[in-house]
Amino acid sequence: MLILIIEDEAAIARFLKRGLNAHGHRVVCAYDGEEGTRLAVDEPVDLVLLDISLPRLDGREVLRRIRIRRADLPVLMLTARDDTRNKVDALDAGADDYLTKPFVFEELLARVRALTRRSGQAESAQIQTDGLTIDLLSRHAWRGDEKIELSSREFALLEYFMRHCGQVLSRQQILSAIWDYDFEPTSNVVDVYVRHLRNKVDPPDGPSLIQTIRGAGYRFDPAPNP
Ligand code: CA
Repeated sequence: MLILIIEDEAAIARFLKRGLNAHGHRVVCAYDGEEGTRLAVDEPVDLVLLDISLPRLDGREVLRRIRIRRADLPVLMLTARDDTRNKVDALDAGADDYLTKPFVFEELLARVRALTRRSGQAESAQIQTDGLTIDLLSRHAWRGDEKIELSSREFALLEYFMRHCGQVLSRQQILSAIWDYDFEPTSNVVDVYVRHLRNKVDPPDGPSLIQTIRGAGYRFDPAPNP
């Protein structure tokens, strides 16, 4: 898939490009609204990540111009933290979805998947392992029929584990997948979140679904070998 990033903050654009490349997407970047509009209309892009505040043309105007020429192009708007007005504006202006900065990369990926699914490319919306189910669209999790309350970061961590079931994941791998570009990895935050997640997803009796692998990291394994 070819994804257009319209974002004037170079560090964020780089972070997005690197992550999307790593997941097999091709990426083209524009650093102002005019260039972004031109690329969205002229290039065969499949999806746009659009920052709302941009030089030359702001995101709303970019979106309006894109919609005139390419009404069906999926657009995910990036908005500033806690800016309700911007979110409403983004959806009013015709964005398909929005994401508040700073965001977790896995959540961005989930929303990209959801948007491309809506525009016709099929992928399952749920991941299941023994007894555990997560829904990628509603961002809900269940053990059996019982819903599990998770924060968005805990959900992203669980999704990452379930996508890499049976694999040993280092703390660094987990950090770069789940924490955003603002995060300084100086603490034991991964261990803290794994502990939270275990408290919520582990069955009340029996071994943890998330094993600690000494000196290596963690492995999610719902049916560990004895
Ligand atoms: Ca900006």
